[in-house]
Amino acid sequence: MFSKILIANRGEIALRIIRACREMGIKTVCVYSEADRQGPWLEVSDEAYCIGPAPSAKSYLDISRIMATAEIADVDAIHPGYGFLSENAHFAEVCQSSGIAFIGPSPEAIRLLGNKASARDLAIKSKVPLLPGTKDLVEDDKEAIEIANDIGYPVIVKAAAGGGGRGMRVAHNEIALVNGYMQARTEAATAFKDDGVYIEKYLERPRHVEIQIISDSHGNYVYCGERDCSLQRRHQKLVEEAPSPIMTPELREKMGETAIRLCKAANYVTAGTAEFLLDKNGNFYFMEVNTRIQVEHPVSELVTRTDLIRAQIMAAAGEKLPFTQDDVEVRGHAIEVRINAEDPDNGFRPSPGKITDLMIPGGPGVRWDSHIKVGYSIPPNYDSMVAKLLVFADDRPKAIARMRRALGELKIEGIKTTIPLHQRIMNDANFIKGDVDTGYIENVLLAK
Ligand code: ADP
Repeated sequence: MFSKILIANRGEIALRIIRACREMGIKTVCVYSEADRQGPWLEVSDEAYCIGPAPSAKSYLDISRIMATAEIADVDAIHPGYGFLSENAHFAEVCQSSGIAFIGPSPEAIRLLGNKASARDLAIKSKVPLLPGTKDLVEDDKEAIEIANDIGYPVIVKAAAGGGGRGMRVAHNEIALVNGYMQARTEAATAFKDDGVYIEKYLERPRHVEIQIISDSHGNYVYCGERDCSLQRRHQKLVEEAPSPIMTPELREKMGETAIRLCKAANYVTAGTAEFLLDKNGNFYFMEVNTRIQVEHPVSELVTRTDLIRAQIMAAAGEKLPFTQDDVEVRGHAIEVRINAEDPDNGFRPSPGKITDLMIPGGPGVRWDSHIKVGYSIPPNYDSMVAKLLVFADDRPKAIARMRRALGELKIEGIKTTIPLHQRIMNDANFIKGDVDTGYIENVLLAK
C-alpha cells in the first residue's frame, strides 16, 4: 500500500480524500494556490505546499509544478479528485512515466472513454444502447442539417471534449441548429481547446440515471447501484438520490451490466460513472463515462455501505477491491443536495465571500461533506460549490423528511446559497411523488 499521497485538488474533495487516507494510515500532501492559503482542509493535511497564484492554469492545472512537489515530498501516488486534471490523459501519462501512481484510469482508458465521440464509438461496438446520432465529428453546418433531417428534430449538439454542461446546444429546427452548431463549437474551443462536436437525438423530458462502477487490476468489476440526477439547472446537477424513484431490480441489473460491459471493453480500472438517459418506458440510452470520482459519489456510498475513495486507492495500489458484486446490496435511500455559493434570486450569480456564521446539521442519518468554517472566505476563483449535505434513511419519504429537517438546522451566514431552492424542492409535490425530469427545475419549478 502507498505511504504518502499527493492531492491535486482543493476544497471538499481534498478533505474527503484526506479523510480516506487518514483511515488507511496514509500520509497526505496538499498543493494549493495563493487564493487558498486559508483553506481549512490544509490544516488536516500532513503537508501542504503553495504552488502558484490563484488562476487554475498557474496552480491546480500546472502539471510541472505539481510533479515537482510530488518529487520533493516523495509521494507514491497522486489523487486528482474531480475537475482540474482528473480527466487529463497527459497528466496520467506524466505520473506513469515518473513512477508515481495516478489514482484513476490509465491514459489509454481516459482517451477512449473521456472523449464523448470515441466513447460513443466504443458503446456501439459493445452493443450499449445509444440515442440515434453521428458516429464521427460533424465538420460543418451543412452536414449538421443533413444529420438532423435524418434523425429528426429536436437534436442536441455536443462538444466531444465537453463536461460540466458546457458546449451543448439543443435545436428544435434548422435555424436553431445552425446557430447552436456554431455556438457549441466556439464554446468548446474556449472551454476545452477542442472544437469537435457531434449530434444526437434530443430526448424530451428524460431522467438522468447513472451507474457507479469500480474495478481493480485483478479483473473484478462491481457496479454500486445507480444515482438519479434528474434535478438539474443548465445541465448541471443540483440534487442526487439513490435509488432512482423509478428503478426496479431488473432494470438496475441490466443497466449495471451494460456499464460494466462498456468499462471492460476499455480496460477501465478504478472508479467511474456511466451516465444514461432513461425514458418513461424504462428504455435507457448511454450518454458518456465520467472517468473520475464524481461529486455525488457519497450517495452511492450511503446506500451500498462502501467507501469508494478507499476502494479507488486500493485499486491504484494493485490490491483487490474490498467487496464483490454479491456484497453490494442497495439498501435504504440517500439524497444529496449541492450547496453552492450562488444567489438563486439573482440568476444564480456566484456569491463568494466570508462565512460569518455557520450551523452544521447533524443527528441520525446526516452526512456533511464540506471544507467551510466560520471566518473562512470563499475565493471567487473556483467552483461555487461549498458543501454537500446528505441524508440517509430507510425509505424515500423518510429521507425527504430528514433532508427537510437537516436543511432547517443548516445556517450559513455571510454569503447567498442555494439552500432556499433546496427547501423548495424538498416541499415540492412532484419531487415528493418522484415525478421529475431533467427539465423540471427550469421549466416548472423556477418558472412558477
Ligand atoms: P456534461 O459532460 O457536460 O455533463 P452530459 O453529456 O453528461 O454533459 O449531459 C448533461 C445533461 O444534458 C444530461 O444530464 C441531460 O440533462 C442533458 N442531455 C444530454 N444529452 C441529452 C440528450 N440527447 N437528450 C436530452 N437531454 C440530454
